[in-house]
Amino acid sequence: MKAVVLRGPGDLALLDVPEPSCPPGHAIVRMTHCGICGSDVRYLHGDNPWAKQTLGEKRPNPSNIILGHEATGVVERVAPDADPAWIGKRVALIAFGTCGECEYCRSGREQLCPNTQHLGHGAGWADSPYCYGGMAERVPILTNWLRELPDSVGNLEASVLDPLGVAVHGVGRTGVRAGQSLLVVGAGPVGVLAVPVARHRGAARVVVADLNDSALAVAQRMGAHSVLLATGGDLQARARDANGGRLYDAILDTVGAPLGLYLPLLERGGTMVTMTVRDTEEPFPTKLLAGERTLTSSCNFRFDEYEEAVRLLESGAVDPLPMITHRYPLTEALEAFRVAGNKDASGAVKVVLTGS
Ligand SMILES: [Zn+2]
Ligand SMILES: [Zn+2]
Repeated sequence: MKAVVLRGPGDLALLDVPEPSCPPGHAIVRMTHCGICGSDVRYLHGDNPWAKQTLGEKRPNPSNIILGHEATGVVERVAPDADPAWIGKRVALIAFGTCGECEYCRSGREQLCPNTQHLGHGAGWADSPYCYGGMAERVPILTNWLRELPDSVGNLEASVLDPLGVAVHGVGRTGVRAGQSLLVVGAGPVGVLAVPVARHRGAARVVVADLNDSALAVAQRMGAHSVLLATGGDLQARARDANGGRLYDAILDTVGAPLGLYLPLLERGGTMVTMTVRDTEEPFPTKLLAGERTLTSSCNFRFDEYEEAVRLLESGAVDPLPMITHRYPLTEALEAFRVAGNKDASGAVKVVLTGS
């Protein structure tokens, strides 16, 4: 079958790989859609964003990763011991499984589990010639990682469930409440999905900042009350203007911007969440945390938040179509990665690969 294989840093290829086997408990899913995540572009460049954001560690990637953790499809077959009722169902693939035994899993914080196995990320596939992922014609996956899609949610729309789960968790980490204001930094997929998530929670004012005009236009179509071009010395003044002259109750930084740029915009008692931690040191005056301001990070999502993401699509509270700016067949994956990796020129927000 055809698959998008990251053979090593910078070495991405569309290859014919052996058909996956279907071990006990597994299903084989025919991929219909798989989004390209910003993290896929970082894996391509040799980074390991999951290890950095969750473990705070630099970890090398294994070779031969079939990328893709934002996949949907149709179940083609199941192992003899698995429930045959799955066959023919339209499904989303939950992209990770956790151990269920560590202190994080046992305390309902499975997003912090260090023993995570990842679809399309390379973690936890020690004995396999390929680390399987969604950017392939067929994907082997444990049936308990499958989520049947409601009738009203198409496979294309459902391909955003992974970043939508990330947005649900990130917005939750900011603690933004009904009537409050949220500043979202970055109009990438998670940033623009955070807009309807926060509005669904009753946020009264959601403002998005980005360097790219076309991405900001998408943020507006996703429901942002106001958008800001994040350049120029007057950025902080314009950001306050966009919130009626006030500081923000919460800030969700999806891009890892310099702390000194946005932390001064946080209201007393508010929380700023960074979704992209960095290796570089960043000195900042601790007085920016005066007044019980909180600075923290956000990792992936909890499984109950994935269910919330499904409900947000099903109810129509989140319409992801404005953010799906580009679609390519799996066979044109390398071109799709060029577009996704050069968002400034392409204006891409979400690039989705399509299967059969
Ligand atoms: Zn991702
Ligand atoms: Zn665990």
